[in-house]
Amino acid sequence: MKAFGYLAPRSVEEAVDLLGREGAVPLAGGTDLLVAIKRGTLPPRWMVDVTGIGLDRLDEANRAVVIGAASTHAQVLASDTVRAGLPALAEALAGIGSPQVRNLATIGGNICYAVPSADSAPPLLAVGAEVCIIGVGGTRCLPLEDFFVGPRRTVLAPGEMVTEIRVPLPGPHTGTAFLKAGRRKAMSLAVVNVAVSIRRASDSMTVDGARIALGAVAPTPFRALAAEQLLQGQVFSVDLAEAAAVEAARATAPITDLRATAPYRHALSRVLVKRAIVKAWERSAGPGGYRDA
Ligand SMILES: Cc1cc2nc3c(=O)[nH]c(=O)nc-3n(C[C@H](O)[C@H](O)[C@H](O)COP(=O)(O)OP(=O)(O)OC[C@H]3O[C@@H](n4cnc5c(N)ncnc54)[C@H](O)[C@@H]3O)c2cc1C
Repeated sequence: MKAFGYLAPRSVEEAVDLLGREGAVPLAGGTDLLVAIKRGTLPPRWMVDVTGIGLDRLDEANRAVVIGAASTHAQVLASDTVRAGLPALAEALAGIGSPQVRNLATIGGNICYAVPSADSAPPLLAVGAEVCIIGVGGTRCLPLEDFFVGPRRTVLAPGEMVTEIRVPLPGPHTGTAFLKAGRRKAMSLAVVNVAVSIRRASDSMTVDGARIALGAVAPTPFRALAAEQLLQGQVFSVDLAEAAAVEAARATAPITDLRATAPYRHALSRVLVKRAIVKAWERSAGPGGYRDA
């Protein structure tokens, strides 16, 4: 392991300044970064600790939850608003690693490391989350679906960091669900993970908007747009969910690796998408859907 320097800024501005050094990378919980450094796949010269600069706040504004990038999974899970209004996100975070990992690892680190199996990505994509970025050039916010570029690659330029993730709270008559299959029930990266958000029309039988996101089955987490389109405006049925799931699986481009074969991931995508659609639909009728107080 090559030697590196550790820098502990006291503010976002100072962090941005320090990230301007050559070979500097943000350090949050370190649960991905330190593994990468030990493996020699990421040899930074400087690690800029972003955990002590006020990026671990959760605020609710304009029907969205604004999650600071350095919020740990445990901190996000402790939010009543997240558990009540964003059950798919809560389900995803609750299944990451172990309590020890969730106490250290951050939501910003999860999306910035950008592995295709990142568990927070599908539920964030399914509700239309935005990522806000700061660098020497200023700040910008963009949809999460434009953030991922490839395996472990994002749009972040050297010296930039994510400050917050803006997560819209689904409106009334909307249900969300997250499902993950791994090789074990805990401490296991996803073989496939899926999140769905679906809204009922006023007749309560017709789909009025759906978003379907998958992870671990393509170079980046992605939305299955054709499958979403297939649901739109249709009277809901389990057969309709099955047809959308077939379409979503068609959009995958899985690989074979030590966790699963590509054909297995393809088949599992169909099964999980169907189940997640049905679960989200059921929730859209009841307390699982977010309601105004
Ligand atoms: C035992 C174990 C089990 C795990 N289980 C799971 C699991 O079930 N599901 C899952 O999805 N992941 C899992 N992980 C992976 C990891 O815990 C998560 O991805 C975690 O959320 C990473 O967050 P972190 O704060 O530790 O990131 P770090 O390791 O600190 O950083 C990760 C990457 O993001 C960059 N980064 C961090 N913060 C920012 C920022 N604000 N702006 C820009 N770049 C930033 C870093 O430079 C680095 O490249 C597991 C890891 C371990 C060790």
